[in-house]
Parts: sequence; C-alpha cells; structure tokens
Amino acid sequence: MRKVTLPRMGYSYIGFRAVFDELGHEFFEPLPLTKRTLDLGVKHAPEFACFPFKITLGNLIEALETGKVDTIITAGGIGPCRYGFYGVMYEKILKEELGYNFDFILLDPPVKPYGSFKRVWDIVLKWKSELSWRDFIKRLVRGFKLAWRKLKRVEELEALLLKKRAWVKDSSKVEAIFKSAIDKMNLSRDLDEVDRIFEEAREKMESIPPERDNVLKVGVVGEIYTILEPFSNLNTEKLLNERGVEIERAVWTTEFIEYNISPGLPFPLKQIVGYKGKEEIEKYSKPFLNEFVGGHGRETVAHTVMFKKKGFDGVVHILPFSCMPEVVARSILERVSRELDIPVLSLSFDEFTGEAGLITRLEAFIDLLQMRRRLAA
Ligand code: SF4
Repeated sequence: MRKVTLPRMGYSYIGFRAVFDELGHEFFEPLPLTKRTLDLGVKHAPEFACFPFKITLGNLIEALETGKVDTIITAGGIGPCRYGFYGVMYEKILKEELGYNFDFILLDPPVKPYGSFKRVWDIVLKWKSELSWRDFIKRLVRGFKLAWRKLKRVEELEALLLKKRAWVKDSSKVEAIFKSAIDKMNLSRDLDEVDRIFEEAREKMESIPPERDNVLKVGVVGEIYTILEPFSNLNTEKLLNERGVEIERAVWTTEFIEYNISPGLPFPLKQIVGYKGKEEIEKYSKPFLNEFVGGHGRETVAHTVMFKKKGFDGVVHILPFSCMPEVVARSILERVSRELDIPVLSLSFDEFTGEAGLITRLEAFIDLLQMRRRLAA
C-alpha cells in the first residue's frame, strides 16, 4: 500500500482520492496553502520558475515534512511552455537538493515521445501492487467512475457558488452549504450518495433569496492553475462576487481532461470521461490567434470572444506573472477587446502581488462596467 499525495489545485484532489481509495492506497490530502507554503516554494524554486510551480513545490515540501507520504504523483506536459519541466524540477529539488526519499510518478501525456507503453505499464504495476488483475481492473473502473462523478458535481456546485455569492450581501451562508457538501462528497464512496449530496446542496443554495436587484456578469479566462486555486489569485473571484459580480469560469479540471487527457486513455476509462474536440476553440480564436501557443492561451482568446457573444459585461484574465502562453494571449486580448467592444482586465499574479492593489484594480473595473451598463440602458 502506498501513501500518496499530489499538489493541491482547487478541488481536483477529490477525484484522485476517489481512485486511490478504491485501489486501497492511502491518500494524503494536499495541505491547505498558506504563506509558509509559498515562502518554501519561493526559497527552493529557481527565481524565474512559474508561480504555480513555486506554490506546488512548497505544497509538496510540506507534505514530505510530515513523513506521511512515500509517493508523489504529478502530471507532465508538452508544448511551448515550461509545464514540461515541472516533473523533472520537482524530482531534482525534492530528492537531490532537499534529500527526501519518495517514489515519483510523472503522468506524461500519452503521446510519443513523452509517453510510452513501457512507462504506462510501469505505472499500472505500481498501482496494482498485490491486487489480482481482475480485482485491480474492477476497482480502477469503479474508482474512475466515482472520481469523474465527484469532479463533475463539485464543479457544478462551484459554478453555482460563483453565481449565487454575487446576489447575497453576506456570503457565509452559501459558502457554508457549499463547503459542507464538498467535504461530504470528498469522503463518499457511493455514486448515488454523491448525487444526493449534490442535489441537496444545490436546492439549499438556490433557495437563498437574492439580496441585490442586479449584478454584473463577468467571464474568467486564463491559466488553469491560477484560476482553479484561489490561494494563487488572492481569491479574486470571491472579491468580485462580494462586489456584486456574477462569475462564469471558462476553465475547469474536467474540461481539461476531456480535451487533453481523454484521447490517450484506454477503454473503458475513455468512455467514462468522454471526449471534447477543440473545434469551438479553434473557430472562435481563429480571427485573432490561429495556432497553439501552449497552456490555455488559445482558449483564453476563444472564451473571451464567446463571453462577448453571450452578452457578458466584461472578462477578467488571470495569469501567473511571466506565463508565456497567457502573455501571448494578453497581447491579443487587447485587439479582441477593442474590436468586439468588451472590457478585459488582465491580472498577473506572483509572490509580490498584494491584495490592496488588486482590490483597487477590481473596483475600478467594476465602476467601468457599471458605467457601460448605465450608458447602454
Ligand atoms: S502555462 Fe504558464 S504558468 Fe503554466 S507552466 Fe506554462 S508558462 Fe508556466
């Protein structure tokens, strides 16, 4: 039995827990992110490493410090950005520089030359451990189904939270319902129970009466980690919600899996997840950006166009400082904003970003959107 963890990115750990629980491994839930996490990451990462790398590195160090982890799993990446280096850098810093002893499992994309049958096979054997093949496959499929259902339900609830919180003056009640449902879904090992917890929480959240007459609607686009992990963006979505702005996120963990991971999954895991082609992304980004620039750069442009078509008041673009794909997207968003007449606020985050400056920028953006609403009325 392995004692396994991975870096925290929003609620994505809930899906991984479901699989490891079913396979009989001990899952170490990623620790909450704090200033210490970031300080550790900044201290041990190369100065110009991406901001998400610094946070996740600090998170892994804190997990290893507990002595309760013997296996770390992370995803690998390809394309013209630094994500492909994360795995190598984690291993080098944590093992060679800091002297931790653990088994490192890097899930490279299942395409050549990064993934190979041999690498996938080695990983399968590690997870199978002493289970019979029949038992292993049965548990893997069950764990995968549960993980997928949980991730979908958690995201549906979070999407509702990002809307509902904008309509109330005190968000604590809606957040408490959300948090309690997330905790229950995290621990549940039953598909129907997950659905029941979700439905119950959805009904409770929807039944909270609105306390504002009107709210603004803003789409959030950008780099996946910095969007999904509130610690990394200083809780920008909550700050917007509390100022009467309803949020729709363009990027989610399941959507990332459906677009990017699903094609390489074996039967029947691929069928559980489904597959999304990128035709829509290509169609909407094409007039402004006609090629893959790494990360979610192309999606950022396409989703901004889509938000305009859906009648949103504006778009907030969240990116880590110096993130290459998003810096490319940001320069293109200036043209998208001008030509389509949709305000875009780009916010870049690193260890030096402060909340006071962020709030000032958000409030100025909200003033602009409200003024445009008034003028359009
Ligand atoms: S998408 Fe941006 S932040 Fe993420 S690894 Fe690539 S360059 Fe770094």
